[in-house]
Amino acid sequence: MLVDSHCHLDLLDLTAFPGGLAGVLDAAREQDVTRFLCVSINLEHYPGMHALVERCAEISVSVGVHPNERGGHEPTVAELVDLAARPGVVAIGETGLDYFRSEGDLEWQRERFRTHIRAARQAGKPLIVHSRDAAEDTLTILREEGAAEAGGVMHCFTGDREMASKAMDLNMHISFSGIVTFKSAHELMEVARGMPLDRMLVETDCPYLAPVPHRGKPNQPAYVRYVAEHIAALRGESFEQIAAATTRNFQTLFNLPAVI
Ligand SMILES: [Zn+2]
Ligand SMILES: [Zn+2]
Repeated sequence: MLVDSHCHLDLLDLTAFPGGLAGVLDAAREQDVTRFLCVSINLEHYPGMHALVERCAEISVSVGVHPNERGGHEPTVAELVDLAARPGVVAIGETGLDYFRSEGDLEWQRERFRTHIRAARQAGKPLIVHSRDAAEDTLTILREEGAAEAGGVMHCFTGDREMASKAMDLNMHISFSGIVTFKSAHELMEVARGMPLDRMLVETDCPYLAPVPHRGKPNQPAYVRYVAEHIAALRGESFEQIAAATTRNFQTLFNLPAVI
């Protein structure tokens, strides 16, 4: 059994699969991927996303506003806490900082990140953290806001060993996407090779970032298997070991029952 700990099922082209979402899940099951966390990027899409997956017991959801989203509804702590209490919601996010795709004074992004951390602490739910070109500020804000109390995951991790270790000190897990399979990702492969297995997760972040051998094509949850297989090879461990550990970590972090 394997988990896709971060996917955007509502952003997939469902017409490409027989039966739509059912076809996506069938394709995943064929690769032993049987549990999914569908991640929110804004509150406008959130009701549709939740409606799409709410009848599927194997799909959990998060609630939050992505750092690259601008101009939409700006959530308050109380709103996020309220939404997080609804059935199937296991996490707050994705939230964080993205200095790669945003310009100018990004204080609004940092404020929004703080709001999510406060909500996670109040709701008692872990954080899904997106961090791009903003390692130092991400860690500083996690520390200042006491994010360790909520715990969480650095999703689609692209940092170095030092950042991984500092994030783990703040009670964060490290999640690897298809990027770890890219030939040029030497530093990231080093992180995957050297980090403790009990803090590791795997994800697709689909429809983005398809792993090798599907790089450049639309991604889907089934492909998280390539991520896990690649990490197993890097570490000289079996696929089953990586699958079992990342599944266990997912269940513990998001407080889910052990078996579907
Ligand atoms: Zn992200
Ligand atoms: Zn994402």
